[in-house]
Amino acid sequence: MTARIPKSGQAGAPRRISVLGATGSIGSSTLDLLKRDRSSFAVEALTAHESVEALAAAARDLRPAVAVIGKPELYGALREALSGSGVEAAAGKDALLEAAARPVDVAVGGIVGAAGLEPTLAAARHARVLALANKECLVCAGEVFKAEMAKSGTSLVPVDSEHSAIFQALAGERAERVERLILTASGGPFSMLTRAEMADVSPKQAVSHPKWRMGAKISVDSATMMNKGLEVIEAFHLFATAEDRIDVVIHPQSVIHSMVAFCDGAVLAQMGAPDMRTPIAVALAWPDRMATPVKRLDFARLAALTFSPPDEDRFPCLGLARQALRSGGGFPTLLNAANEIAVRAFLRREIGFLDIAEVVERVLASETPVAPHDVADVLELDAQGRRAARAAIGGLGRTIAASSDGGRIRKV
Ligand code: NDP
Ligand code: MG
Repeated sequence: MTARIPKSGQAGAPRRISVLGATGSIGSSTLDLLKRDRSSFAVEALTAHESVEALAAAARDLRPAVAVIGKPELYGALREALSGSGVEAAAGKDALLEAAARPVDVAVGGIVGAAGLEPTLAAARHARVLALANKECLVCAGEVFKAEMAKSGTSLVPVDSEHSAIFQALAGERAERVERLILTASGGPFSMLTRAEMADVSPKQAVSHPKWRMGAKISVDSATMMNKGLEVIEAFHLFATAEDRIDVVIHPQSVIHSMVAFCDGAVLAQMGAPDMRTPIAVALAWPDRMATPVKRLDFARLAALTFSPPDEDRFPCLGLARQALRSGGGFPTLLNAANEIAVRAFLRREIGFLDIAEVVERVLASETPVAPHDVADVLELDAQGRRAARAAIGGLGRTIAASSDGGRIRKV
């Protein structure tokens, strides 16, 4: 599937927007833009998993038709928090899917992880434009997701900054004239550390990204560089480009968000401050543009833009993701599931930072996945990957020495 340029909405009418994952980092940046331009947008649905207070506060402010909390046991709390507001409160998986399926101009897919697959697919079937941040959907269900998108005719505009950059650089270009896609990577917080130094890093250090403020899971993915591996898979699906034509380059300043190299030697780069409100705005307003308060680049003060190749020995997750993509079939689903479990275990201090790659590698080596043909197959394979990852974590035999945040991981 090549991300398509959407049909335009009704001229003059406010765009109807749903935000799935409204309380997260992508969700908050989206709500910030909606609040700054209230006459251009009308909010249909806001969803969250368990952050009742944040969801209720956003709903009281933006007045969607419905606010949905994923955990059913939080229904009472949400209903109470919204009483008198005129906003319908709902809870649980069915309510989430129903809200996601409401017809809107733009549905923002900002849920984290494979948990977002079903709601995002529901949105993909009914929205005019899917503004997709939830890259795990494409990683775990690429072919299935693409088939659903093709059936619905919904346009996909990527929100991930690299893919938004490529989407913008490709506008008006012919796909067969593209030679390479070049994804930039900041290198994350540990770009200067040795493997020995990485062994002892804490979750707090891992989520302190030098350039971007993001949710915990993607921050850890950035630190391991699994995020860039997931993005290679995402680009493969979005832009129908073979794995060996998708490059990754370390660019610590995060000014160039990605590039497209064409057959005539031209390279188009999209630049801007590292602020997700730009790629979100691109998706909300496409094919038009909208104003944002994002800090403008001052080229006179940009001392240098530097580039270097990624180090796959220090950051093996990037190679593991490429390997899963080349192996095809169900391997990317397994990779994603194993990574989600390993990252959660790291955040809970059950394993060390370097163990994340180790767990993913063990799962890819031990399982023989069947290629998924539909959503049920993907969910089954996802569960298989999670079980295998839990077993791999058990096999590592780690325990965390009781200490403060900098505590060491040791083998017992
Ligand atoms: P966050 O963790 O900040 O937010 C996740 C959102 O999803 C929250 O609203 C959360 O609700 C909700 N959520 C979590 N679990 C579930 C679930 N099981 N069912 C339904 N909703 C759930 O994540 P980010 O905003 O950082 O990332 C969202 C997605 O966007 C990820 O796929 C990420 O890779 C991608 N992305 C993010 C970028 C960023 O800058 N943050 C950049 C590029 C891509 P609650 O608050 O109640 O838990
Ligand atoms: Mg990205």
